[in-house]
Amino acid sequence: MANSRQLVKVAVPVPLAEAFDYLADPEHDLPLPGCRVRVPFGRSERIGIVVEHAATTTQPAAKLKTIGTALDSVPAIGSELLATLRWAAEYYHHPLGAVLSHALPGLLREGRPIDEALEPTWVLTELGRGQALDRLPRSARQQARALAALREGPLTASELAEHDVARAALERLGEKGWVESGTPRATVAPAAHRERGELGALPELTADQRSVLERVAATQAAAKTFRPFLLHGVTGSGKTEVYLRLIAAELAAGRQTLLLVPEIGLTPQLVRRLTERFGTELAVLHSRVTERERFEAWRRAYRGEAHLVVGTRSAVFAPLPSAGLVIVDEEHDASYKQQRGFHYSARDLAVVRAQRLGVPVVLGSATPSLETFNNALQGRYEKLDLPRRVGTAGVPRVRVVDLNRHASRQSLSTPLLAAIEQHLTAGNQVLLFLNRRGFAPVLFCPNCKTAEHCARCDARMTVHAKSNAIRCHHCGAQRALDWHCGTCRGERIAVGAGTQRVDEELAALFPAARIARLDRDSTSRKGSLDALLRDVESGHVQILVGTQMLTKGHDFPRVTLVGVLNADQGLFGTDPRSHERLAQTILQVAGRAGRADRPGEVVVQTHHPDHPLLERVLAGDYAAFATLALAERREARWPPFTHVAAWRAEATRREAAFALLEDVRRAVAATAGPVTILGPAPLPMERKDGRYRVQLLFRSAQRAALHKLVDRALLVVRGTPAARRTRWSVDIDPLEI
Ligand code: ADP
Ligand code: ZN
Repeated sequence: MANSRQLVKVAVPVPLAEAFDYLADPEHDLPLPGCRVRVPFGRSERIGIVVEHAATTTQPAAKLKTIGTALDSVPAIGSELLATLRWAAEYYHHPLGAVLSHALPGLLREGRPIDEALEPTWVLTELGRGQALDRLPRSARQQARALAALREGPLTASELAEHDVARAALERLGEKGWVESGTPRATVAPAAHRERGELGALPELTADQRSVLERVAATQAAAKTFRPFLLHGVTGSGKTEVYLRLIAAELAAGRQTLLLVPEIGLTPQLVRRLTERFGTELAVLHSRVTERERFEAWRRAYRGEAHLVVGTRSAVFAPLPSAGLVIVDEEHDASYKQQRGFHYSARDLAVVRAQRLGVPVVLGSATPSLETFNNALQGRYEKLDLPRRVGTAGVPRVRVVDLNRHASRQSLSTPLLAAIEQHLTAGNQVLLFLNRRGFAPVLFCPNCKTAEHCARCDARMTVHAKSNAIRCHHCGAQRALDWHCGTCRGERIAVGAGTQRVDEELAALFPAARIARLDRDSTSRKGSLDALLRDVESGHVQILVGTQMLTKGHDFPRVTLVGVLNADQGLFGTDPRSHERLAQTILQVAGRAGRADRPGEVVVQTHHPDHPLLERVLAGDYAAFATLALAERREARWPPFTHVAAWRAEATRREAAFALLEDVRRAVAATAGPVTILGPAPLPMERKDGRYRVQLLFRSAQRAALHKLVDRALLVVRGTPAARRTRWSVDIDPLEI
């Protein structure tokens, strides 16, 4: 009989399964749910996580194996988090073992003990950072190598030994005060830490901020009460200051706050503000920290030493033994949605987690997602408003330039040029937004009327004049730039403009101005983004041209003019969310104009000045836009009025991708009930990186029915041999439809 001995269900990080049944080891204590255990698996051994204890199993007794060593005596994943993760695995239809391993730092997944003492790291001091490597004597090669390696981040002595740096060299650098050793701490700027005693000089809150704080505080004080809030505050209205006060209140009560942010690399200012106020209370978790730093930050959260856990998407799985509050900044941001593998939404999981933790959750944005906005309208979330900016700057003036009427030299119209001139003369900064990097999006031959295409994607190659190359922004393919047409040898031209070209145009028009570019090309080197943002903040840069990266919550106090070079991108997209995204982008970028005490101006160039959507957005009334956009969504039966699951398949042969999704459709169509099945149909850019991409949608106003159908379809997919030859995925609540 299989149940004569206690059974343990263990989730192992492999696809296709829920959890596996093992026999407990009678010689040892039963490991608690949430503990890591070694288990025999196939012919090898894996590290899994105990999910629950069980009394019975459907497995034949002969097949049952006994679990191996338990790695934890206290669960690595606490019961609340374990429950959230189990819920997430079910909701997103993703294998439980894979979901659980998301919650643990890599070193723990490898089986390191939680209380392992880590080797100290060496870091550069301010002094060391300022040293020119070529000024070191030739005999100090090791020191030079150490300095170069440490510029990329902290390293342990053993890691430095791999760079051929001996301990003696490190000690010599230490004597000079150029490097120092310390325990790894995943704070970004520990040096900037100000003592908590100096907090006297906090700004006096505005009346709006006070009333927002009072309403959240009512919930905060009643500890262990779940309550979701939407904090809708225009850019510069002091949302961040509200977060800081809420966090301070939690700290004072000895509770932890989880603060999720879209992309930490893009918001060094926020991390600096947090470090200044909360210093050592802070643990930072994001994708750019090293495995050691992540482990250390995770541990400080796990032990409750860090009272403020800040991180990107995956930080939603941070351990929070004494949680008091969850905050999601810029909750509309697309980066909260993981787009591959485990397709979860960290924003949505933050709400689920807060519910299990029994704590308030604050979703903040100047341009809330329509899902969240609707939740507030329906009364499911309490809406808090910060409708005014802090300070005297007021709302920026918005001017629309009709590109049909105004001559435009390349990408900059005469009215915009005049405005740039005027703001520069006044000693202010100008920010120009164009959602396209590179020099030009099209390399065109006027003679044979063809444009250069990517061989592996349904897309054109972008001209990168500076590096003399053409690149595909979808698959990364790159070729040398040849101005002569491959077919007729005619002279080709670059059509349209990307940030590089605008940068060049500006340099020709304003030869005295200091111009910088902010896009993925200009910030790919580590540290270059930080340096660039500092140059903008200090006022050294006068004109900043950039892509979407500009919209990410930067606070540039000297910018008074924002130019949107092409507002039309996205106006006619096929995705039900394209209007929402366009409105968010325009308002976010416009929000960079005129913060602090300088009034701002926004110039928007468009070929469609009368487009009703643009008109609403440009009036600056996001709530009015959202209300109308929601009416359109309801009409068209898109989320949040329905729920969607998107199946995607991709294969090198179009037929293979279609066939798999046709199988899915056929298998469930007759019994779909209240679920509408749409497709299969090719994605808007059907071929990417040599693979054809096809999509099938399940849509229903009834969530439970939708999930049941997904489960049934999954059984079919996992059972077909075709699924093994075709890449496929199912995405619940997809962002792109
Ligand atoms: P948001 O997050 O809504 O964009 P922030 O909190 O970053 O707004 O505030 C914008 C600017 O105003 C920041 O420089 C911040 O330091 C400042 N600020 C915020 N609240 C106040 C206040 N009550 N009094 C004075 N300055 C404030
Ligand atoms: Zn390509």
